[in-house]
Amino acid sequence: MSRRELLLSIFPWRKHHSKLVLLAGIQFERTSNGRSRRRYLRIHGDEKTAAEALAQHMRARRGVAFSVTGGNRLVKVAGGVLDPNRMYSRAGAEKSYRRLNPEWSHAEIQRALDWLDRARPKLVKALLPPKGGLLFALHNNARGYSAEDEVGISQAGSLPRRAEPHEFFLATNVEDYKLLSKGPYNVVLQSSPEGEDDGSMSRLCARLGVRYVNLEVGAGKLELQKEMMNWLENTLPE
Ligand SMILES: [Zn+2]
Repeated sequence: MSRRELLLSIFPWRKHHSKLVLLAGIQFERTSNGRSRRRYLRIHGDEKTAAEALAQHMRARRGVAFSVTGGNRLVKVAGGVLDPNRMYSRAGAEKSYRRLNPEWSHAEIQRALDWLDRARPKLVKALLPPKGGLLFALHNNARGYSAEDEVGISQAGSLPRRAEPHEFFLATNVEDYKLLSKGPYNVVLQSSPEGEDDGSMSRLCARLGVRYVNLEVGAGKLELQKEMMNWLENTLPE
């Protein structure tokens, strides 16, 4: 913890506070700190390093953060198991439900999708930033996922650390990408992703023209995740 973070944790004069909220049947801890258009999201419950990095970050930085409270990667929504980063479109959720609930009939899947269609507007409204603001999502990987999986479907890429492909930013906004790509970290641009809609938050934001950056860091690399988060804060406008 830096001196600044330590002081802010002892004297939280920026009105740092947390509460539990339920969105689309998923429980989140919502933390706000002062006034800012910045929004933060940590959606996978098993990504503990991202949870810790975000909790520490919110003591020193302004904005509103949502972090899932459960410890599992998958969530139970409308009675079925679902990857929570596949629920932002009906098509993406349908694929996830089919894969994770093989015993479900077509009618059961449609019923869950109908329920999710009704719950999604409130979820999306809560998570997306105010106009012009940035949504910053934190992830960890441990299963080999890397920037190499994304470069082929990206509009641009800057990989100064190609030997460490598990650590990278994914941005949906060209101006944000240009600023991030001047730095020492890997970054890819997906402003108009190709192929089928997978229901992920990056897809939704690219479609809506919302500024979104996803930070992927290997599980357990807390100091690196914090370093890259701080660098983004100091590089991108509010
Ligand atoms: Zn994740």
